[in-house]
Order: sequence, then C-alpha cells, then structure tokens
Amino acid sequence: MVYFALRRQNFAIVALLLLSTVQARLLLISFDGFRPDYLGNAQTPNFDQFVSEGVEAEYVVPAFITKTMPCHHTIITGLHPESHGIVGNTMYDPVLDDTFWFTTKDTEWWDNGGEPLWVTAKKQGLTTAAHFWPGGETATNGGYKPDISPPYNGSEPFRQRFDTVVEWIAERDIDFTCVYITEPDAVGHAYGPDSQEVREETEEVDDILGYLIGNLKQRKVYDTTDIIVMTDHGMVEVSRDRKIDLYDYVDPNDVERITETGAIMSILPAEDKTMKVYESLKGKHPNMSVYRKDEIPGRYHYANHRRIMPILVVCDEGWEILANFSAQSESRMDLAATHGYDNSLASMRSFFVARGPSFRTSYKAEPFDMVDVYSLMCHLLRLEPAPNNGSFANVKDILIDFTSFSPSSRSSFFASGLTSTISILILNLLA
Ligand code: ZN
Ligand code: ZN
Repeated sequence: MVYFALRRQNFAIVALLLLSTVQARLLLISFDGFRPDYLGNAQTPNFDQFVSEGVEAEYVVPAFITKTMPCHHTIITGLHPESHGIVGNTMYDPVLDDTFWFTTKDTEWWDNGGEPLWVTAKKQGLTTAAHFWPGGETATNGGYKPDISPPYNGSEPFRQRFDTVVEWIAERDIDFTCVYITEPDAVGHAYGPDSQEVREETEEVDDILGYLIGNLKQRKVYDTTDIIVMTDHGMVEVSRDRKIDLYDYVDPNDVERITETGAIMSILPAEDKTMKVYESLKGKHPNMSVYRKDEIPGRYHYANHRRIMPILVVCDEGWEILANFSAQSESRMDLAATHGYDNSLASMRSFFVARGPSFRTSYKAEPFDMVDVYSLMCHLLRLEPAPNNGSFANVKDILIDFTSFSPSSRSSFFASGLTSTISILILNLLA
C-alpha cells in the first residue's frame, strides 16, 4: 500500500519523505514549579541562548489541580486529570479502596485508559526512555512501559541525570526521552518565588541546562534533537495569616477522609454527611470557594472521575485550607509559597521553550494549554496520537513546517521501518 502510494509521488515529494524519515529525536525536560517569570528575575544565559534559537510560548495554561502528579500526567497523555485519573498528588480510590501517595507505582493507579506518550511511541515502533518522570516506572495499557526507566533516586545529582539522558540519546539512539527535575519547586516552597534563593536556584537550573547542551554538542546530537523544556505549574506566596482551619467550620466526625490540603482541599465526608459538611463550609469564608462534585466549574475539567471527592474547596490565591492547625508542623504553617490553585491564575502558569530542527527560531508563540503538548510531541515523532483533550492546531505555528508530514501518515509509513522505506524509495526512482 505504501509502495503504490509512493509511486504516485514525484521525485521531490519522495525525497522530502526520505528526509522526513530522518526524524529528530525528542527530549522533554520538566523542571518542577518553575514559574515563567523566574527567567526574567535571574541571569540565565543558557535559557536566553536556547530561546533565541528556538521558540517560547507566552505561557502554558496548566492542568487543574495545579500540582505535580496531575500536571505531569497531563503533559504526557494530553488528557485532563478527570480523564487520565491522576487527580492529585494524594488520592483515594473508592473502588480500589486504597490511597495513592505520589510515590505509588502500582499499575492499577496509573492505568486509567489514557495513553502516555511512551506507550503511543512504543506501539508505533519507537524507542523510549523516562528518567524519573511520574508514572514512567509503571507498565500500563497492556504491559507497555518505557524501554528504559530507572527507579526514582532523589539524591542523584542533576548533572548526573543529564549525563545518563545524553548517553541514552547519543549511544542508544532513543527516539523519545523525558526527564523530570525536582527544582526549583522545593526552593520556591521554602523561600518564596521572589526570594534570593529562588534567583540562585534559577541560575543553577540554567547552569544545568548549559551543562546538558554542552554534553549534547560534544556528542554531536544537539542539532538533531528536538528539545522541549517546560514546567508543571507556577508558585505563589502564602502566609500564616491567610490560612483556614477546616475544623473551625466542620465537625471532624463528619469527615471520613481528606486527600489534598493547602491551595485546595478534597473531602470525603462520612456516610450521609456530604450536605452537612457542604453547608458548614459553603459561603462561610470569603477566600474559599466550596463545590459539591456536581457543581465544580466546567473549565476545571475536574469532576468526572471516581477519585475526585464529593467536596472540593478551592482557596483564593495565597490562601490555604488545612485540617487542624494544632496538628501541623511549624514548617508547614510557615511555608513560604505553594501551588494547586485555579489554573487560570497568572501565578500558576507553566512555561514552554523549545529548540531543534523542527522548531522555528526566535519565535514567540501565543499561549496554549498543557493538554496540547501531547499532540505536538506526537507530531514531532510522526505518531498517530491516542484520543486526547488537546489540539495540534493550537501549537502547530511553532513548527518550521507542519504540513510536510502529517502524524496520520506515520503509522503506515513507518511501520515498515527506515530500511524498507529506502527500498521503496529506490523502487520508485527506478519505476
Ligand atoms: Zn510540581
Ligand atoms: Zn510543589
């Protein structure tokens, strides 16, 4: 079928297709909690150079809730959390009757019908690797997982992580690699987004990026790799005097379980207590919005999953809700900053910069949504995307040429592999 399709093409088109087969590798890097304006508040020569040679989105609207696990799984699946099922850093599943902590790796938690990009890529014949990406160690979708996904080791130095990633790209020729870096999130939480410490950490992250780029250049793969650098969510200052204690409003006996606290709170009331808890909270504090599951605003795309609890509290920016102040540690009460809020807030935005053979240069893109990134990555890897909530149309303008090879043509064309593609090309040239 491919052969006959190609016979109809003229030489120029066939040559273009051959060039297109030499697809760039794709490297996706997430720096956790890297608010976009950090780049403007510190000396970041490596980011500046990277952006000048590539593209930068004005900003990216993250998933809701604006927390690490839901947002990372949205980046890698193109689905809203209610569709991919990772609805929090901590969750309760009433069917599994079990709780999820962000280190949980069990398939039953991660296999929710969504398709991580490494699964999409593996199904269509590519090689993949995940370095500490949330969910990357777990087999899903019938047993698929990245070809390489070492167990999480939080103490591994960042430069060493990038040494490993560059080796995968340069030596093992991995088609898609994703890597997760925990900073500057932790420093942001501890000292606040406008602190000197965050400025210094931003410069350290910039140094790490420079180290990675130097390493890729040394291995001569920098200019043949499409590189996306982004983050999961932003960060905003909080303070001790903007905290709300749930138990100032609700009888603890009416609460069976709380799965998220801080910027938001997810509450599973005790049996038959949902309306009582709801009425105890609704309209009782000017800086918190209280929703029953059936009235969560549609723009959050956060309602249709069994792991979303019957009551959701969303605090105003900078406010937090905790359960029982006296049970909190001093460090928790004195936390400098957090995230998890309404994903339309400027402080919660993600950034996106990219450079490589597929991307335009010195190009500033309109904002897009985190769910759109999966479609973009599928296009870059010539993959047929799995069903998702994103739109390739929202991101295609950042590419040099998004028309020469549509994602839908890859699955049939690439199934035969590069060798047979060249054979077909020769047959066409001889025909
Ligand atoms: Zn995060
Ligand atoms: Zn965080």
